[in-house]
Amino acid sequence: MNDFNNYPVEKIRNDFPVLSQDVNGKPLVYLDNGATTQKPVAVINRISEYYLKENSNVHRGVHHLSQVATGLYENARQYIANYINAEESSEIIFTRGTTEAINLLATALRPWVNAGDEIVVSVMEHHSNMVPWQQLCFERKAKLKVIPMDMEGNLDLDMLAKMLNPKTKLVAVTHISNVLGTVNPVKEIIDIAHNAGVPVLLDGAQGIAHEVVDVRELSADFYAFSGHKIYAPMGIGVLYGRKTWLRRLPPYQFGGEMIDQVSFERTTFNELPYKYEAGTPNVEGALGLEAALRYVSETGMENIVRHEEELLRLAEKGLEETDGMRIIGKANKKAAVLSFVVNGIHPYDLGTLLDQMGIAVRTGHHCAQPLMDYLGIPGTVRASFAMYNTKEDVNAFIKAVEKAVEMLR
Ligand SMILES: *Cc1c(COP(=O)(O)O)cnc(C)c1O
Repeated sequence: MNDFNNYPVEKIRNDFPVLSQDVNGKPLVYLDNGATTQKPVAVINRISEYYLKENSNVHRGVHHLSQVATGLYENARQYIANYINAEESSEIIFTRGTTEAINLLATALRPWVNAGDEIVVSVMEHHSNMVPWQQLCFERKAKLKVIPMDMEGNLDLDMLAKMLNPKTKLVAVTHISNVLGTVNPVKEIIDIAHNAGVPVLLDGAQGIAHEVVDVRELSADFYAFSGHKIYAPMGIGVLYGRKTWLRRLPPYQFGGEMIDQVSFERTTFNELPYKYEAGTPNVEGALGLEAALRYVSETGMENIVRHEEELLRLAEKGLEETDGMRIIGKANKKAAVLSFVVNGIHPYDLGTLLDQMGIAVRTGHHCAQPLMDYLGIPGTVRASFAMYNTKEDVNAFIKAVEKAVEMLR
């Protein structure tokens, strides 16, 4: 069976064995992809092959396996650089994920931020792209400024332009909101910031999974993402940084691998990207991430995005039939992330009933408490779609929501 427009969804589902199981006596409908995605056999096999045949520490030994592992690790870096169209592989810093990538940057930027300076975030940021900047501002006596949005979930770019001034050190904004699904006009945001001479970090945790990412076309200064949101293992992520920036900034952690020469009097640091990768890296994770991006490329991100948009449209249309339904996030451009509340029903109760019907969704504040405050709601139910979800998944979800709402009324 093919879904919309010959999209080979059945073939894709066969690559994700975890999806064919029953939960609470019902076929699993996995719609919590905004939290983490499932992994295809290609990724699982890649990791197992590494430990069966190739494992060694990297950049350290003259022996055969160490050279094999080093080659594979650096090839993965190159593949990822090409995937997001970075100029050089040395602009790809491996991290544990988006959170660590942003903390790395917040640490490296510390000496650049002084009393009275300003950092700009948006009201729809995940805590990962807000708390590190807030804490940096506290520490350096700088000021955190917040780009507002309208109630549909569109950022106010006129306000952004007005906020920027010679004291602004960084604009840190999400590519795609993990709550509202808003696809922010990031090219425009970057142009506005660059006109004022301000660099931009994009939180790409959702962006990497639901958009074609081209850091050079965007002129992004920094782009952070997690592997596990795009079918790769947990514990691996990337900070892309333009090399002119990465060269200027100081290291993040100190230890092995990131050094050049060490004596008790002084230490000099390694070249990019190793300056930012202290200690033994997550080689299996890097290889798993490469395998995941290769897997995604077989179907093509454009085709995945189109498929997910069809699912989103179908789900939104179906949900609107439910009495008291309020969809949270109606931005001009949306990715396949669908938040909603139902009048008089707590999101947690709805989520619990959906689970009993085999439907996995997220409920709560989705690591965006300031956004919930802004919207005046305690939380939402969130369904988020991935390349392996089907029309049948959406239909089962809509029916389950209707049934759950009836039961709770
Ligand atoms: C998931 C997510 C993060 C955090 O990613 P980790 O993998 O937990 O580090 C940050 N921002 C957004 C928008 C996310 O969806």
